Amino acid sequence: MSQADRQSNNVDITQGKSASASVFESAEKHFDDAAKVLKLTMNQIATVKKPRRSVIVNLPVRMDDGTIHVFEGFRVLHNKARGPGKGGIRFHPDVSLDEVQTLAFWMTFKCAVVGIPMGGAKGGVICDPGKMSDRELENLTRRYVAELFEVLGPDVDIPAPDVGTNARVMGWIMDTYSMQVHRHTPSVVTGKAIELEGSAGRDGATGRGLLYCVRRWAGYPAKQLHGLTVAVQGFGNVGSWSARLLSEDGCRIMGLSDISGAYVSKDSGIDIGAAQEYAKKHKSLDGFERSGNVTKLKHPKEILEMEVDVLVPAALENQITHQNAGKVKARLVAEGANGPTTYDADRLLAERGITVIPDILCNAGGVSVSYLETVQNRMGYYWNEERVNYDLEEIMNRAFDTVRDTATKYEITMRKAAYVVGIQRVVTSSEFRGLYA
Ligand code: GLU
Repeated sequence: MSQADRQSNNVDITQGKSASASVFESAEKHFDDAAKVLKLTMNQIATVKKPRRSVIVNLPVRMDDGTIHVFEGFRVLHNKARGPGKGGIRFHPDVSLDEVQTLAFWMTFKCAVVGIPMGGAKGGVICDPGKMSDRELENLTRRYVAELFEVLGPDVDIPAPDVGTNARVMGWIMDTYSMQVHRHTPSVVTGKAIELEGSAGRDGATGRGLLYCVRRWAGYPAKQLHGLTVAVQGFGNVGSWSARLLSEDGCRIMGLSDISGAYVSKDSGIDIGAAQEYAKKHKSLDGFERSGNVTKLKHPKEILEMEVDVLVPAALENQITHQNAGKVKARLVAEGANGPTTYDADRLLAERGITVIPDILCNAGGVSVSYLETVQNRMGYYWNEERVNYDLEEIMNRAFDTVRDTATKYEITMRKAAYVVGIQRVVTSSEFRGLYA
């Protein structure tokens, strides 16, 4: 971010972590590649590349032992040309301003790729939710919303779940905001519980969107997914739903991993229902090798090198790097996580003929159903899951075909094509709006 941007945003970002080894720089490289394909002018680049607003808040929270702990939190609005900011809130010890800015940048182009009327935003708090009580988490969430009240709202910026947050946290956000404005305002946040005007199908939406992408890649319905082998890195919301839905479609899940390690099937595939039950009971897959027909790999990251048809990285950023991209054996990498592949690794995979369905397309099912949730909130009328899944499938298939056709037209990878589609749409909307002065 330049000095001019800092001043024009009128917010203090100086407390942010050093931008050395910035993930944002890597995301910018993808942007620049696509901008070249589109032959964008400097003016067009200037209007869509940088985040519009980055806010840092220090959040004093009373802990269960009576002490007050001050947490650092962020909310970044990257772009609002196509609609209000949209993006999750991450609770994780490694959160940084640089990461949140990058995640917000991806949200802008993700929303544009799937054609929903939303801009890009993201939030985060440096904390370890696994080590906090429910009350501490509630206090932190409410304080976060109270401090950021002016920059949130159904027509301003709409949060959602991300790593470390869930429907429970979204409920606290909805309640805090509603109390502040003295109005029942469900559309201020998505990913809420069904009982709190959430949408049917939102919980599994990211995994379901990924399933629709993999089906499209495989040529479904003529070609079924039956028998395809899969390895899934990460067993949170995205990983577990992806594994479950792919296995219901006939795939064999040969490997699974989470923070505790990687577990590989000894025979024809892992029973995902059993893995989900185990993870629910034990809070992770730790020890799963003793209960299922699986062995544990020495290093969790070996999951990425498994001999399978489809690899689903569904954990955090920067997992497939220049060091291990040469060892990936899958034919397809379906990115469930945001930014799991570094810029250099992405080039290596392309050189090796491995198809990558990029994050801003492949994991866009979550935000797509978030959009459907806001539509239902605004109507006050709720659809059943069948209806939501039908719309999601339409959205994903249309986006997949547009990206694939763009890749064919320009003879580029699906990653570059997704950026081309997303950036083009944001630039076009910006130009129709003109520049407010
Ligand atoms: N956190 C999800 C993502 O990265 C969902 C965002 C949303 O629903 O707004 O796409």
